[in-house]
Amino acid sequence: MKLVLVERQDARIRCIPDLGIAHLLGQCKQEGIDARLVQGSPETLECLLDDSVFWLFEQGYKDIVRDRGEAFLKEFLKFSHHMATSRNIWDKTNPEAMDDLWHVVTYMREMVWPTWLPDQLFGQIRDAKPDVVGFSLWNFYDHPGINNILVKVIQRVRRELGIKILIGGPGANSITSRRDIMRIFSPDCIIHHEAEQTLPDFLRMTESGRYKEIPNITTKNYDGPAKPIENLDSLAFPDFSQYDLDSFFLPVRVLPMMSSRGCPWAQCAFCSHHATYSGYREHSPERVAELVNHYKKKYRTEMIMFNDETFTAQHAGSIVEHLTEAYYYSYAYPRGFDYGLLKKMHEKGFRVLVWGVESGCQRTLDSMRKGTTIAELEKILKDSKRAGITNVAFMMFGFPGETYEEAMETVEFLRKNASVIERHAATPFRLEEGSPIWDNPGRWGVKNLGAGNYSVKRGMQRNEVVDFLRGLDAELRASTGTGQTPKTGDRRLKTSSDTKYYMPGDAEFRAYLFMQAVYGEGSGSYPVRNGILRGNKVLPSLLMRNVSRPGIELNKREKETYQKCDGTHKIGADEFKKYPYVVFYERPFN
Ligand code: SF4
Repeated sequence: MKLVLVERQDARIRCIPDLGIAHLLGQCKQEGIDARLVQGSPETLECLLDDSVFWLFEQGYKDIVRDRGEAFLKEFLKFSHHMATSRNIWDKTNPEAMDDLWHVVTYMREMVWPTWLPDQLFGQIRDAKPDVVGFSLWNFYDHPGINNILVKVIQRVRRELGIKILIGGPGANSITSRRDIMRIFSPDCIIHHEAEQTLPDFLRMTESGRYKEIPNITTKNYDGPAKPIENLDSLAFPDFSQYDLDSFFLPVRVLPMMSSRGCPWAQCAFCSHHATYSGYREHSPERVAELVNHYKKKYRTEMIMFNDETFTAQHAGSIVEHLTEAYYYSYAYPRGFDYGLLKKMHEKGFRVLVWGVESGCQRTLDSMRKGTTIAELEKILKDSKRAGITNVAFMMFGFPGETYEEAMETVEFLRKNASVIERHAATPFRLEEGSPIWDNPGRWGVKNLGAGNYSVKRGMQRNEVVDFLRGLDAELRASTGTGQTPKTGDRRLKTSSDTKYYMPGDAEFRAYLFMQAVYGEGSGSYPVRNGILRGNKVLPSLLMRNVSRPGIELNKREKETYQKCDGTHKIGADEFKKYPYVVFYERPFN
């Protein structure tokens, strides 16, 4: 029995591999099932090298082709999937090119993906010759474009290959989405909730078709109950071996891990995450330590990102003593953390915590049922900063019932705490299927208008929230130095040493945070992935060799850095600070 698992498709820049798929690959391997990975994004970016795709771009980029020439655009596209590389080139020579890059991504998403991706995905599936193919869906209702692409692929798989088709992933968890998935894609089976045990059972049962004996299964005429995996420690290790781990857009290898599933709080009105997993369960601290050691040894990862739905103080306290030193980055539920715990976490390597702060207005927090208080939020952020941890705050604007004045309280909160919040991510409220507010909208004065749209009885309407955030973004960035989405001409990240580099988005920002957290304020920039920092040694790669190509001029500091980074010289943290950035050039053309 041969299985192909197709990753969730998207046109975003990929920073880390998909943990859900890695879990399934690991479980299949342990159970002797031949499971292959079909990736979406990294491979699909290769389409930029394809002449027929280039023609499509050319149509959309007539202006650029006219102004800068076809060769320019071809080379630009060719290298744009190595965005870090492009950034280093273009920020130094032509800042406008960053805008081109984002247009390329947008154009790719809107024009190229739908025409090119279905063939590409189908080809990969056909060539793997599987008996069963499984597709992973993200939020089913948020990505109609991707759904359209998948419909084309699935229809073709059914018509030309005649193999069994499975659909799973977080998009398949709610009853409504399962009904719509069945209607739109007509798979043989949907696997909802946790699939590690269900998938191998399903494959074993394909002959007999006795699917009703398996939990978490939906077929045309049957919708089985969700059953949580009781003992998380019994699961196989996630398997990332089919990924090219150096193809992700971060300067170092960052791998995701979940040390718990579900949420012990499970009350926030806007949240559907806790519904993904039935009940809250934790890995034992010993198992978390084992996983960390496995990641470090097998994948030489430099940073582990805890993807837990809710990383609580209690859980952190129970695992921190067991962890070996590594760099850790985690989401965290801002309740119960104190300086002592945060200090211990920092000692073990926690460098970035992303807190679900959501609001600076107590009435809004209470209405959200967030379970936090402004006083405790402020104390935790302060203690975390004092412990040496970089704080990122998730903020939500426009929760139903929130007035303009209350939203401004959150703005004031960010201003007041700007010295301890390195970065905030401001997002508008989204009406998510499976959340308490979706299930019971009247309680929050919400009318669900369908397709993610809604109206409220009190407070800001959806369009007002969007306008509010537009105006807010620039102002907040100006007054606090934080903000999620830098805009054209205002992308410079202020640091003590870096005045050159643009930070186009969250992916780079995370990379930046990582390097800054690890090496301190002095490291204003960071090596891109093609020059990988391993411990205290910078390993040169293809890019370093290209530095010596004629026609590329390095300034004095860059020359020194280049010489230092010859692959034999070890750069200690102190010495690294003398060289605030390591520049790796690859110049596709002169
Ligand atoms: S937002 Fe976080 S803490 Fe709140 S219910 Fe969702 S997962 Fe739990």
